[in-house]
Amino acid sequence: MIIFDEVLYAEQIIRNGCSQRNVLVDFKILAKYFIHYKHRTDQEAREEMLNILKNSQTFIPINYLVLKIDKAISFAKTENLKVMNSVIIYKEEVDIINNTIDESLRDLAIVYLFLSKWSNDEKGFFVKEADVKKLLGKQSLRNKDLQIKNKLLEDSEFIKFVDTRTKELIKVLITKEDGEEAFRINDFKHPVLHYRQYLGEKIKKCENCGCLIKITSSNNKYCKDCKKVIKNLQTNQSKQRSKTNKSL
Ligand SMILES: [Zn+2]
Repeated sequence: MIIFDEVLYAEQIIRNGCSQRNVLVDFKILAKYFIHYKHRTDQEAREEMLNILKNSQTFIPINYLVLKIDKAISFAKTENLKVMNSVIIYKEEVDIINNTIDESLRDLAIVYLFLSKWSNDEKGFFVKEADVKKLLGKQSLRNKDLQIKNKLLEDSEFIKFVDTRTKELIKVLITKEDGEEAFRINDFKHPVLHYRQYLGEKIKKCENCGCLIKITSSNNKYCKDCKKVIKNLQTNQSKQRSKTNKSL
Protein backbone atom coordinates (compact mmCIF):
# COMPACT_ATOMS: atom_id res chain seq x y z
CA MET A 1 0.00 0.00 0.00
CA ILE A 2 1.26 3.49 -0.82
CA ILE A 3 1.71 5.78 2.16
CA PHE A 4 0.24 8.97 0.77
CA ASP A 5 0.64 11.16 3.83
CA GLU A 6 3.96 10.63 5.57
CA VAL A 7 3.30 13.24 8.25
CA LEU A 8 0.15 11.46 9.41
CA TYR A 9 1.97 8.15 9.15
CA ALA A 10 4.93 9.38 11.24
CA GLU A 11 2.59 10.73 13.90
CA GLN A 12 0.90 7.36 13.99
CA ILE A 13 4.26 5.64 14.60
CA ILE A 14 5.01 8.08 17.40
CA ARG A 15 1.64 7.28 18.99
CA ASN A 16 1.32 3.56 18.31
CA GLY A 17 4.79 2.23 17.52
CA CYS A 18 6.17 0.73 14.32
CA SER A 19 4.29 -1.47 11.92
CA GLN A 20 5.11 -5.16 12.11
CA ARG A 21 5.88 -5.63 8.46
CA ASN A 22 8.01 -2.77 7.32
CA VAL A 23 10.02 -1.47 10.19
CA LEU A 24 12.82 0.02 8.05
CA VAL A 25 10.28 1.91 5.94
CA ASP A 26 8.95 3.28 9.23
CA PHE A 27 12.45 4.41 10.21
CA LYS A 28 12.87 6.29 6.93
CA ILE A 29 9.50 8.04 7.17
CA LEU A 30 10.17 9.00 10.76
CA ALA A 31 13.55 10.45 9.74
CA LYS A 32 11.95 12.43 6.91
CA TYR A 33 9.34 13.73 9.36
CA PHE A 34 11.95 15.03 11.82
CA ILE A 35 14.30 16.44 9.18
CA HIS A 36 11.81 18.02 6.73
CA TYR A 37 8.71 18.65 8.79
CA LYS A 38 10.10 19.37 12.26
CA HIS A 39 13.32 20.88 10.86
CA ARG A 40 15.55 19.06 13.35
CA THR A 41 19.31 18.80 12.90
CA ASP A 42 20.73 15.31 12.28
CA GLN A 43 21.79 15.06 15.90
CA GLU A 44 18.39 16.13 17.23
CA ALA A 45 16.57 13.81 14.83
CA ARG A 46 18.77 10.91 15.94
CA GLU A 47 18.01 11.57 19.61
CA GLU A 48 14.27 11.87 19.08
CA MET A 49 14.16 8.75 16.95
CA LEU A 50 16.20 6.80 19.44
CA ASN A 51 13.82 7.82 22.21
CA ILE A 52 10.80 6.69 20.24
CA LEU A 53 12.25 3.56 18.70
CA LYS A 54 14.01 2.03 21.67
CA ASN A 55 10.63 1.41 23.27
CA SER A 56 8.26 1.10 20.37
CA GLN A 57 9.88 -1.64 18.31
CA THR A 58 11.65 -4.92 18.98
CA PHE A 59 12.64 -5.85 15.41
CA ILE A 60 16.01 -4.13 15.31
CA PRO A 61 18.24 -5.09 18.25
CA ILE A 62 19.19 -2.14 20.40
CA ASN A 63 22.92 -2.27 19.50
CA TYR A 64 22.08 -1.79 15.79
CA LEU A 65 19.52 0.90 16.39
CA VAL A 66 21.78 3.96 16.06
CA LEU A 67 23.31 2.57 12.88
CA LYS A 68 19.89 2.03 11.31
CA ILE A 69 18.66 5.44 12.47
CA ASP A 70 21.69 7.16 10.93
CA LYS A 71 21.10 5.33 7.66
CA ALA A 72 17.47 6.43 7.69
CA ILE A 73 18.50 10.04 8.34
CA SER A 74 20.98 10.14 5.47
CA PHE A 75 18.31 8.62 3.20
CA ALA A 76 15.73 11.14 4.41
CA LYS A 77 17.86 13.99 3.13
CA THR A 78 17.71 12.68 -0.45
CA GLU A 79 13.91 12.48 -0.58
CA ASN A 80 10.92 14.79 -0.21
CA LEU A 81 8.42 14.33 2.54
CA LYS A 82 5.21 13.24 0.87
CA VAL A 83 1.89 14.67 1.95
CA MET A 84 -1.66 14.55 0.68
CA ASN A 85 -1.90 18.04 -0.75
CA SER A 86 -4.23 18.05 -3.70
CA VAL A 87 -2.51 17.45 -7.01
CA ILE A 88 -3.16 19.94 -9.80
CA ILE A 89 -3.46 18.61 -13.34
CA TYR A 90 -3.04 21.17 -16.10
CA LYS A 91 -5.11 21.44 -19.23
CA GLU A 92 -2.01 21.11 -21.37
CA GLU A 93 -1.22 17.78 -19.72
CA VAL A 94 -4.75 16.48 -20.27
CA ASP A 95 -4.58 17.60 -23.90
CA ILE A 96 -1.38 15.63 -24.41
CA ILE A 97 -3.04 12.56 -22.92
CA ASN A 98 -6.24 12.96 -24.93
CA ASN A 99 -4.46 13.69 -28.18
CA THR A 100 -1.41 11.45 -28.16
CA ILE A 101 -2.26 8.49 -25.93
CA ASP A 102 -4.44 5.61 -27.03
CA GLU A 103 -7.80 5.60 -25.26
CA SER A 104 -7.12 2.26 -23.59
CA LEU A 105 -4.04 3.73 -21.90
CA ARG A 106 -5.37 7.10 -20.73
CA ASP A 107 -6.51 6.05 -17.26
CA LEU A 108 -3.09 4.55 -16.62
CA ALA A 109 -1.43 7.72 -17.92
CA ILE A 110 -3.48 9.74 -15.42
CA VAL A 111 -2.43 7.42 -12.57
CA TYR A 112 1.24 7.89 -13.46
CA LEU A 113 0.88 11.64 -13.90
CA PHE A 114 -0.82 11.82 -10.50
CA LEU A 115 1.89 9.74 -8.80
CA SER A 116 4.63 11.76 -10.45
CA LYS A 117 3.20 15.06 -9.24
CA TRP A 118 2.42 13.75 -5.78
CA SER A 119 5.92 12.31 -5.26
CA ASN A 120 7.43 15.53 -6.66
CA ASP A 121 10.80 13.95 -7.28
CA GLU A 122 12.57 14.62 -10.54
CA LYS A 123 14.27 11.25 -10.42
CA GLY A 124 10.89 9.57 -10.76
CA PHE A 125 8.82 7.44 -8.44
CA PHE A 126 8.54 3.80 -7.48
CA VAL A 127 5.21 2.02 -7.35
CA LYS A 128 4.14 -1.58 -6.95
CA GLU A 129 1.99 -3.14 -9.67
CA ALA A 130 -0.72 -3.99 -7.12
CA ASP A 131 -0.96 -0.32 -6.12
CA VAL A 132 -1.23 0.81 -9.74
CA LYS A 133 -4.09 -1.60 -10.28
CA LYS A 134 -5.85 -0.36 -7.15
CA LEU A 135 -5.51 3.27 -8.27
CA LEU A 136 -6.83 2.30 -11.69
CA GLY A 137 -9.77 0.57 -10.03
CA LYS A 138 -8.84 -2.59 -11.94
CA GLN A 139 -7.61 -5.15 -9.45
CA SER A 140 -8.32 -7.95 -11.88
CA LEU A 141 -5.85 -6.66 -14.47
CA ARG A 142 -3.06 -9.20 -14.97
CA ASN A 143 0.50 -8.05 -14.34
CA LYS A 144 1.42 -9.17 -17.83
CA ASP A 145 -1.23 -6.88 -19.33
CA LEU A 146 -0.13 -4.00 -17.14
CA GLN A 147 3.42 -4.48 -18.39
CA ILE A 148 2.22 -4.36 -21.99
CA LYS A 149 0.41 -1.09 -21.26
CA ASN A 150 3.56 0.26 -19.61
CA LYS A 151 5.56 -0.59 -22.70
CA LEU A 152 3.04 1.19 -24.93
CA LEU A 153 3.17 4.29 -22.71
CA GLU A 154 6.92 4.15 -22.95
CA ASP A 155 6.73 3.91 -26.75
CA SER A 156 4.46 6.97 -26.78
CA GLU A 157 7.20 8.79 -24.84
CA PHE A 158 4.82 9.43 -21.98
CA ILE A 159 6.89 7.62 -19.37
CA LYS A 160 10.43 6.34 -19.07
CA PHE A 161 11.70 3.60 -16.82
CA VAL A 162 14.79 4.63 -14.93
CA ASP A 163 17.04 1.90 -13.60
CA THR A 164 18.64 2.68 -10.30
CA ARG A 165 20.83 0.44 -8.21
CA THR A 166 17.95 -0.77 -6.08
CA LYS A 167 14.76 -0.38 -8.08
CA GLU A 168 13.15 0.70 -11.28
CA LEU A 169 11.66 4.17 -11.11
CA ILE A 170 9.01 5.58 -13.40
CA LYS A 171 9.51 9.07 -14.75
CA VAL A 172 6.65 10.91 -16.47
CA LEU A 173 8.01 12.93 -19.37
CA ILE A 174 5.16 15.38 -20.03
CA THR A 175 4.60 17.06 -16.64
CA LYS A 176 4.15 20.83 -16.68
CA GLU A 177 5.10 23.20 -13.88
CA ASP A 178 2.21 25.59 -14.42
CA GLY A 179 -0.55 26.59 -16.81
CA GLU A 180 -4.33 26.53 -16.92
CA GLU A 181 -5.74 24.17 -14.34
CA ALA A 182 -7.91 21.34 -15.64
CA PHE A 183 -8.78 19.67 -12.34
CA ARG A 184 -7.43 18.91 -8.91
CA ILE A 185 -7.01 15.41 -7.54
CA ASN A 186 -7.90 15.25 -3.87
CA ASP A 187 -9.46 11.79 -3.81
CA PHE A 188 -6.27 9.74 -3.58
CA LYS A 189 -8.22 6.49 -3.77
CA HIS A 190 -9.73 7.24 -7.16
CA PRO A 191 -7.51 9.67 -9.10
CA VAL A 192 -8.91 8.46 -12.40
CA LEU A 193 -12.47 9.51 -11.49
CA HIS A 194 -11.36 13.16 -11.36
CA TYR A 195 -10.24 12.78 -14.96
CA ARG A 196 -13.48 11.05 -15.91
CA GLN A 197 -15.48 13.83 -14.29
CA TYR A 198 -13.47 16.38 -16.27
CA LEU A 199 -14.37 14.49 -19.43
CA GLY A 200 -18.04 14.83 -18.54
CA GLU A 201 -18.84 11.43 -17.03
CA LYS A 202 -21.38 11.28 -14.22
CA ILE A 203 -19.40 11.23 -11.00
CA LYS A 204 -20.47 12.24 -7.50
CA LYS A 205 -19.28 11.99 -3.92
CA CYS A 206 -19.98 9.14 -1.52
CA GLU A 207 -22.47 10.44 1.04
CA ASN A 208 -20.52 8.90 3.89
CA CYS A 209 -16.79 9.46 3.26
CA GLY A 210 -16.80 11.96 0.41
CA CYS A 211 -14.67 9.94 -2.01
CA LEU A 212 -15.63 9.98 -5.69
CA ILE A 213 -17.98 7.36 -7.13
CA LYS A 214 -19.52 6.71 -10.52
CA ILE A 215 -23.25 7.35 -10.64
CA THR A 216 -24.99 4.13 -11.57
CA SER A 217 -28.54 3.44 -12.67
CA SER A 218 -29.45 2.35 -9.13
CA ASN A 219 -28.77 5.90 -7.91
CA ASN A 220 -26.04 4.67 -5.55
CA LYS A 221 -25.19 6.79 -2.51
CA TYR A 222 -22.04 5.20 -1.14
CA CYS A 223 -18.65 3.95 -2.27
CA LYS A 224 -17.94 0.21 -2.14
CA ASP A 225 -16.21 0.39 1.25
CA CYS A 226 -18.89 2.47 2.93
CA LYS A 227 -21.66 0.37 1.38
CA LYS A 228 -20.24 -2.70 3.14
CA VAL A 229 -19.89 -0.92 6.49
CA ILE A 230 -23.37 0.57 6.34
CA LYS A 231 -24.94 -2.73 5.31
CA ASN A 232 -23.28 -4.50 8.26
CA LEU A 233 -24.45 -1.78 10.59
CA GLN A 234 -28.02 -2.12 9.37
CA THR A 235 -27.95 -5.92 9.69
CA ASN A 236 -26.64 -5.66 13.23
CA GLN A 237 -29.27 -3.10 14.16
CA SER A 238 -32.10 -5.19 12.79
CA LYS A 239 -30.69 -8.27 14.55
CA GLN A 240 -30.62 -6.35 17.80
CA ARG A 241 -34.12 -5.08 17.23
CA SER A 242 -35.49 -8.57 16.68
CA LYS A 243 -33.62 -9.74 19.81
CA THR A 244 -35.21 -6.99 21.92
CA ASN A 245 -38.59 -7.79 20.45
CA LYS A 246 -38.23 -11.45 21.37
CA SER A 247 -37.19 -10.71 24.92
CA LEU A 248 -40.20 -8.46 25.44
ZN1 LIG B 1 -17.44 6.12 1.10
